[in-house]
Amino acid sequence: MARASFPDLDEDTLREHLVDAEIPALVMTVAHLTGDVSLLGELPRSPGWLFAPQGGLTPEQQESLRERAFLALRRLRGQEVRPPGDDLLRAITTWAMGTDTAELLPLLAEGFALPGEDPRAPRWTFAELSPPAGFRVAVIGAGFSGLLAARRLAEAGVPFVVYEKNPDLGGTWFENTYPGCRTDVASHLYDYSFAPRADWPDHFSTRDDVLDYLRAFAEESGVGEHVRYGVEVGTMRWDERDSLWHLGTSGPDGERTDTCNVVISAVGQLNRPSTPDIPGRDAFAGTAFHSAAWDHSVDLAGKRVAVIGTGASAYQFIPEIAGVAAEVVVFQRTPPWLRPTPHYHDPVPAGAHWLHRHLPHYGRWHRFWLFAPGLRGILEGWVVDPDHPPTERAVSALNEDLRAGLAAAMEAQLADAPELRDAVIPRYPVGAKRVLRDNGRWIATLKRDDVRLVTEPIERITPTGVVAGGAAVDVDVLVFATGFRASHFLAPMVVTGRAGVDLHETWNGAPRAYLGIAVPDFPNLFCLYGPNTNLVGQGGSIVYFSECATSYVLDAIRLLLESGKSAIQVRRDVHDRYNEWIDSGNRNRAWGWSKVGGWYNEGGRSAVNWPYSAQEYWQRTHEVDPDDHELS
Ligand code: NAP
Repeated sequence: MARASFPDLDEDTLREHLVDAEIPALVMTVAHLTGDVSLLGELPRSPGWLFAPQGGLTPEQQESLRERAFLALRRLRGQEVRPPGDDLLRAITTWAMGTDTAELLPLLAEGFALPGEDPRAPRWTFAELSPPAGFRVAVIGAGFSGLLAARRLAEAGVPFVVYEKNPDLGGTWFENTYPGCRTDVASHLYDYSFAPRADWPDHFSTRDDVLDYLRAFAEESGVGEHVRYGVEVGTMRWDERDSLWHLGTSGPDGERTDTCNVVISAVGQLNRPSTPDIPGRDAFAGTAFHSAAWDHSVDLAGKRVAVIGTGASAYQFIPEIAGVAAEVVVFQRTPPWLRPTPHYHDPVPAGAHWLHRHLPHYGRWHRFWLFAPGLRGILEGWVVDPDHPPTERAVSALNEDLRAGLAAAMEAQLADAPELRDAVIPRYPVGAKRVLRDNGRWIATLKRDDVRLVTEPIERITPTGVVAGGAAVDVDVLVFATGFRASHFLAPMVVTGRAGVDLHETWNGAPRAYLGIAVPDFPNLFCLYGPNTNLVGQGGSIVYFSECATSYVLDAIRLLLESGKSAIQVRRDVHDRYNEWIDSGNRNRAWGWSKVGGWYNEGGRSAVNWPYSAQEYWQRTHEVDPDDHELS
């Protein structure tokens, strides 16, 4: 085990930087490093404290705890630093979550490896498994999931190639360049758990910072040289005769067919723009583009701009273009719920950077602090309570409480604009659509004189603009912020499995996979961020889910190689039973129950959302159960 000792920190420097500590994370760090949990008892926890910046502590409470932490830390010089033992880990995390974490300990312990240790790296190597000659894995996509898969394959020594249709890595973070694009998951949770970035500039990273992180990760992992940029996979056909996938690709070298033993699809969910078929759509004579393909050649200064949509993309870029354009007309069909996040656009203060770098395990506890709501708690707010009974307003008493809290925060911003109230406060249950982060900018933007909100349904698009509610709005530029075809997994690839079965015909508009990863009749094909692996709410992170799925896929490849067989496929009964469980979960969640629609529940069945806790996904993907699969 790697050893580390508490650094010889200068007391003044320590005190100075503690000013910027996230106090709950600091207190947990101190309890860990000292082994003394008494400080925890000093920290009052209000209901919902896991969701509040600084745990909702008053400035006085923060100051007192900071001082206690300082006194404890200065006694630690030179002392050996170890990961917390099970008892200590359980004591601290049980206290933090307000519920016994005994069952979570293996998951939590993975988060406290010492620097240089990586508990989720493959514990096997390709060479030791007597692989067949020429064995090769193809990864499709070089975004967050594809780069991770590449790293894990490289660690195990498995030969692989990555196909990336774009000229650069990053996936959705490469493609989306609209003004104001940034994460809505905390930066310190939106990186790989084994490769945390200590100095994220902002609490919620800009698109450029995420891309920089991925570039650095690819470089450090040595996987960049395996990526074939500008090469798109159009077809994939499983051939029973040679037990290989035959990939039809197009790129700089023209059309080619490549073969590989295993395919890992890491093509993402939210990257096939959806431009609704509004009558007259193509007749618009001005400039029109989708937010995910922002046309930077268009100078919006002085222009009249129409934006269709008020989802996660629109609410980030509309405040940026307001004031630049002469007028922005926002066409809203359904308003988003907003969750107060005052620090949404704020930089991480210098002291916090320092603590992440110099205070042992602070970064780990900070990560736990951000992750904890997703482990169990946040789900409860979306669960339908038939005894409540559910309505289009709220699906449970807890969901009603959430609504009241969020609505009150929005009402407070609307005191001077009562005319916006009905348009801006949603009528559907919280959680039925993605909840957006709010630091006041969205509503402030809607109140501007040069921004107009139109809620009448759009009738048609004309050469000069948009007609809604019988009124024509003439504009120069039309931006579709209308989201993605999230449920069209693996599209537009044509994927042909055993006996000529077509993947999209099999799915028939309702994609399913076992653990979001494996589909019967499609041997040696594994999906990352596949069906029903999207997280709802602000707990947890998709990056973590990709880590779980990637561990599983590597374990499946190990099983295949160990078996000496050439194909592994999930058993149909296992797959079907699993999907019944997924569907029953989703039906019983705000997005499955509400009629509001959207990409969470396209066509009345959610093909995208994971309806359970992050813990549940971790447990199910931790290792492959050979009984779930057929090897041939
Ligand atoms: P979205 O959430 O699907 O929003 C699309 C918007 O377009 C909705 O307001 C929708 O209205 C509207 N719309 C669609 N078709 C329409 C039509 N025919 N007429 C009028 N309005 C129409 O898409 P998005 O904003 O691009 O976000 C998609 C997802 O990507 C997010 O939920 C999130 O997971 C991810 N994302 C994340 C970030 C981030 O902060 N990290 C940023 C951008 C995107 P309805 O609601 O009525 O359907």
